[in-house]
Amino acid sequence: MARTTRRDFLLGTASLIGTPLIAPSIIRAASFDNDFFQSQWRYCDKCAVLFFNGFPAKGTCSAGGAHNAYGFEFELPHGNQLVETEKAQANWRYCGKCFSMFYDGFPDKAKCAAGGGHAAQGFKFRLPHDIADDGKNQTEWRYCQKCHVMFYNGFPGKGRCAAGGAHSAYGYVFVLPHGNPPDLSIRTNVTTSGWAPIGGWLQVDVHSSGDFSFAGHIHNSGAVNIRYTLAAVLITPSGQSFGFARNAHRVDGTQTLIDRNRDDNWNSNGNDIDIMRNWDQVSRAQLQYRLVAADTITTGIEKYLFDFTVETFQKLTQAATSHPLTKFYMKLLQTI
Ligand SMILES: [Zn+2]
Ligand SMILES: [Zn+2]
Ligand SMILES: [Zn+2]
Repeated sequence: MARTTRRDFLLGTASLIGTPLIAPSIIRAASFDNDFFQSQWRYCDKCAVLFFNGFPAKGTCSAGGAHNAYGFEFELPHGNQLVETEKAQANWRYCGKCFSMFYDGFPDKAKCAAGGGHAAQGFKFRLPHDIADDGKNQTEWRYCQKCHVMFYNGFPGKGRCAAGGAHSAYGYVFVLPHGNPPDLSIRTNVTTSGWAPIGGWLQVDVHSSGDFSFAGHIHNSGAVNIRYTLAAVLITPSGQSFGFARNAHRVDGTQTLIDRNRDDNWNSNGNDIDIMRNWDQVSRAQLQYRLVAADTITTGIEKYLFDFTVETFQKLTQAATSHPLTKFYMKLLQTI
């Protein structure tokens, strides 16, 4: 089975518009232009439809209120010249009332969550179906024969249909291309503002799959043995935070004569579902840390990290704008 990639779409477009009426230079520019894909299409975890998330308002959700984006960001092919092929269906449109992607190929515009029928606006999409899925193309997107929207059929629950009950899959199995946000990798040198002559580096890596790693190195360049704690936290723009701690580890100073160990190294991995679920936030997180003598922490490491996170988040958000604290939390992922 042919795997349809972004390039195939673009090349397909090029051959379709490659008529003598259009200058070759324009064909090339247009064919390889990202403008033929629109991003910001998302899955709504309330009603299960594909909706456009690029406006401040989030449309009308049949499960009540506005849509709520979850998971991948889809990048969908569109253009006035995109005709239907065996593996890609045209006539998919954005509904300006409910913001969902719906099939506009029938005279009947079905039921819109915002009342009446759907109302097509903007780009004309041509969506791939019955091709192989992979890490960049998600399958199980289906047409709902009741409300005519594109919805995700891959979960046991079939969402909420504007025509009543759950969506009902019919016809092609669509496979939609999505961007993979880049992994987040932050490395920083660490020092202490206190008296202790210790320092080193810290690195946190997170992936859209939820995989994470917490690694670092601390060195004691002084005379006295030191037991230290390094508290680190990833803080997302909306306040979901993920904590890591290297707690109460000793690095020896020159006072230790036998089996002296001036360095502490670690590299520890894990996976957390909240990283995956909040990936669009996590991928924009900042890393903050504090390196202290371990005996200065009297409240317990989790409480210490929580207080540090609250304080830091308040500083960050005051510096930006007034920001609601609605989504704030601190989840301690690792204490090692
Ligand atoms: Zn919705
Ligand atoms: Zn609609
Ligand atoms: Zn439906």
